[in-house]
This record gives sequence, structure tokens and C-alpha cells, in this order.
Amino acid sequence: MARCKVYKKFENKGGMGYYDEMRRIYLDYAAATPPDTRALKVMNDTSKKFYGNPSSLHLEGQEAKKSLENARGIIAGTISAHPNEIIFTSGATEANNMAIRGVVSMARERGIKNPHIIISAIEHPSILEVAEALQKEGVSVSRLSVDHRGTVNAKELRKLINENTVLVSVMYANNEIGTVEPIRDIAKEIRHARKTNNSSYPYFHTDGAQAANYLDLNVLKLGVDLMTISSGKTYGPRGIGALFVRRGIILQPLLQGGEHESGRRAGTEGVALAVGFAEALILAEKIKTKEYARVKKLRDNLAEKILKKIPDCVINGDIENGLPNILNISVAGCDSEALVIYLDAIGIAVSGKSSCKSSDRSPSHVIMALGGNDSGTIRFSLGRNTKKEDIARVAQELPRIIALLRACHTQSDQV
Ligand code: PMP
Repeated sequence: MARCKVYKKFENKGGMGYYDEMRRIYLDYAAATPPDTRALKVMNDTSKKFYGNPSSLHLEGQEAKKSLENARGIIAGTISAHPNEIIFTSGATEANNMAIRGVVSMARERGIKNPHIIISAIEHPSILEVAEALQKEGVSVSRLSVDHRGTVNAKELRKLINENTVLVSVMYANNEIGTVEPIRDIAKEIRHARKTNNSSYPYFHTDGAQAANYLDLNVLKLGVDLMTISSGKTYGPRGIGALFVRRGIILQPLLQGGEHESGRRAGTEGVALAVGFAEALILAEKIKTKEYARVKKLRDNLAEKILKKIPDCVINGDIENGLPNILNISVAGCDSEALVIYLDAIGIAVSGKSSCKSSDRSPSHVIMALGGNDSGTIRFSLGRNTKKEDIARVAQELPRIIALLRACHTQSDQV
């Protein structure tokens, strides 16, 4: 990155080197959570003790199978599902792909020649890009718009659902701006459509990857038919997630080559990962209410300080009703990537947009869907290790970094 005059002056005064000795502040929990030590311990113990292949008939295999099924039971219990409604996957991306492709392929097999799906405009790329690919294969796709806070209008669904609609997929909570969608209202609209059309379609899928730490995952109360959850966002091991599939719904498998997961997902199951995931979910459930209040207070405090100290800065999303740990802001006169890099250099880790899109320089589809301007956009996502003093330091450093970048921006405009 070219150094502007203002930066050089800053460097002469000690620059970033001053920060080398400081504790790093990690504010990117929406991208990845550090695995909880208790989850790591049970994983380690399971790897050593239950190394057999759960499909094997011998004792070692059957012990591994028992451990896997125990984990499945725990995960099912935390979301009020039945164990055979849980399919283990490699993570949320696979679960989302499985939900969409699985429903559409099965509908085609059942004779629906022109299936139609509805997704929201701010879904994660693992939904959006699958929908785009399916569109090229002849599936019709409608995109539900969102308001300026990122909330979909459940009533708009009524106009979009037709007799070919096989799936509606709306995320539970958005990963970039934290907006929580009205899942129960959407489910109600879908039940109404099914009744009116006397059909079992459309099914309702929600991507709950970001919701698990803070929101109620009870699938019965939510009224969803399919739900994605992810261990790597819930202080569990990375490399495992799950798709809840309501009993009676049959999906075409994505992966073939074995009868694992009752023929729904081929491949030897990662028993230790499943056990670690289950442990992480138990812990998340236990501390959910307390953590919600704790991180919300810290996040609100950061938002208040930023708005007070930094001119021309706006908050994106729904800070009142959204996830308590996400704060997404757009800062006029700054480049998002430069902000992330400069904050990183002084020991503060944040994201410019979804980590899955961080190397892509196109504007965020989420911010654009809100009608906003995706320049100088950064996301702070707080988590279990975030402390009051971390927020105080960020609130102190951020105005200086922004002033520096704005000055560089103005200088480069003048050249
Ligand atoms: N959905 C949402 C809402 C997410 O935030 C993410 C991760 N950014 C994913 C899906 C994909 O998760 P994974 O990378 O663990 O497969």
C-alpha cells in the first residue's frame, strides 16, 4: 500500500510498531469462533477412545456408533428435533447446498417439471450461488427484497408463492449486519400457502449458522422444515455442521457412495467432531441468555461511542432487534480493506464483509440490498472473550485510524 504524507508523519512518531507488544483484540466471531476447551477435550478423548468406523459391525465400530448417536441425540434435543431429523455435514455451506439442491432434485423426481424457489436478497453465498446455478439449470428463482434494516417482508411472500414453489429459504440471522428475520411470521405465511394450495410444498429452510449462540433454535416454535447449524460458529470444532430435516421430507443426497447418515450423506462420519459439536451446543445453550445481555451491552456501548466520536459514519442493519454481537458500520471517505488492514496492524481483527467474500472486491450484496453505499464498511462481531477494556481500546483507536485514512484519501484525491 502506498504511504501518504500523513501516514509517514505517523510512522515517524513510532507508527504501528508501538502496538506490537499489545494483546490482540479479536472482533471477528461471526467469521470463526475459537473452540471451547471443553469441546476440544471431549473431542480429543473421543478420538482416542472411539476410533472405530461407526459402520463397522465389530465392538470398536459399534462403540463409535454409540458415541456418534449420542451426539446426534444431544444436538437434536437442543433444537427440539428427533435424532433421525439430524444429518451431519461438513459445515453450514454443505448443509445449505444440501437443503436447496436436495429439495429441488426431489421435487423434479416427483414430477414438478419447473420448480420455483424463493430466497432472500441477503442470503449467504452458499444459498445465493446455489440458487444462481440452479437458475441456469432452468429453476425459477425469486428474491425477496429487504427494507433498509435488512428485514424481509413476510407478507410479500404471499405474492411470490405459486403452485411450483417448492422451497423458501430465508436466513435466521444475517452474518454481515446481524439482522434477525421474522422466521415465525414467514412460517405462518408458508403454512397458509400450503393449506390454500392443498400441497406439502413449499418447504421452509432457514440458515441458522449465526443464530445458535444467541437465539432460540427450537424448530417447532420456529415452524421451519429444514435448518442449517454450524459447529465452527458455535465454539465447536470446525469441519462439522448439521442440517435438520423434518420427518417425512426426503432429499436427494448431494454425496453418494455409501449408506452413511441413513443413506442421506455418504462418507465415514467424523465421530469426534460430532461429539465436540454436541458439547459446544450444550455450552452455548447454558450461557445463551447471559451472553446475549453481556455482549449486547458491550456492542451498544461501542456503537454509541463510534457515533459520538466519528462524523459521517452510519450503522447498517437493525441494531435494536438484530443479533447482539454484530455491529456493521460504513465510514464515508474510507476504504473498507484499508480499515481492516490498519486495524489489524494495531492489533484489532475485524472484517470488511463476510469472510467468504473477503478476497472479492465487489461491493457487499447485503449492504447494496439495504440501499446503502458499501464504502468504508466494516463489521465488528463480538464474542465470549470480548471484554469491556477491548471495546474501550477500539473506541479510542478507531477515530485516529479513520482520521488518518480520511486524510490519506483526501491527499490522494488531490494528486
Ligand atoms: N451461512 C452463514 C449465515 C454464515 O455466516 C456462514 C459462514 N460465514 C455460512 C453459512 C457458511 O459456513 P461454513 O463456512 O462453516 O460452511
